[in-house]
Amino acid sequence: MADFWTHTIHGVKVLETLKDTPWLRNRRFFFMGLQGPDIFFYAYDRPEVVAWGSRIHQSRCGQFMKELFASERLPKEYAFGFLCHQVMDRYAHRFINHFEDFKAHKRKEMAIDAGMIRRFLNRRHDHLKPWKLFEDVELKELPSEFAKVVRRVFNDKSFKSETFEYAISKTFSTLKMLYEDIEKTRRRAFRYWLLSLGGKDYTHLVPPKKVKDPLNEEKKPWIDPVTKKQRNESFLEIFEQAVEEASESIKMLLNGRIPDTLFRNFETDEPC
Ligand SMILES: [Zn+2]
Repeated sequence: MADFWTHTIHGVKVLETLKDTPWLRNRRFFFMGLQGPDIFFYAYDRPEVVAWGSRIHQSRCGQFMKELFASERLPKEYAFGFLCHQVMDRYAHRFINHFEDFKAHKRKEMAIDAGMIRRFLNRRHDHLKPWKLFEDVELKELPSEFAKVVRRVFNDKSFKSETFEYAISKTFSTLKMLYEDIEKTRRRAFRYWLLSLGGKDYTHLVPPKKVKDPLNEEKKPWIDPVTKKQRNESFLEIFEQAVEEASESIKMLLNGRIPDTLFRNFETDEPC
């Protein structure tokens, strides 16, 4: 998986390759789609909503993506953003999956995010306002159409328009709470950890301050979790491949063809 800014920068780069194709009417929907099913992870106070995050990443992926594109009323821009998320997750996951522990995994994602922000936006994590992308969005028919797709694909009536709306509003409020003042969040997380004698550890939610070579520009070897083979690409090289694949897939869809890329597990990159 990848984190917020890696997905956003990936989408911007994909857009650059599609300049001549007039398919993007609503940029906001595309940028929301770029966060894919990760929006459900922000609803941490409702486990039944969080569970949809994992479910959509890992099961019935092809069927889900096909239905997302088949929906007449769901904004196409959102579906294209979602596709970019799927592609980026698959590539990023193979790069960072050698961290078994979830916290380390999340921190590695964030370290990559920080490296990408520095490289492409020439900024620091704490100078950006990710929640703005989810502020005052007019969702129109998106929640109800998304809910219809989920209910059909997973045959589960518990998913409502409200489930989607809740995830969007929690994405906004959680990102704002965590990143409006990163230093404050860092101090607070450390205090919780200390006062609970290590029992409540939220320190992984704050981007790490210093990570040496988060994008592996030194090209040190790492093991691909899918092939179990050694690779040594930098994250930037992997990122380029993810831009190309997403861009080619969007072009195919615009020409009425269904790309194979839809039928892959977001996390393990296996057929799904
Ligand atoms: Zn994801």
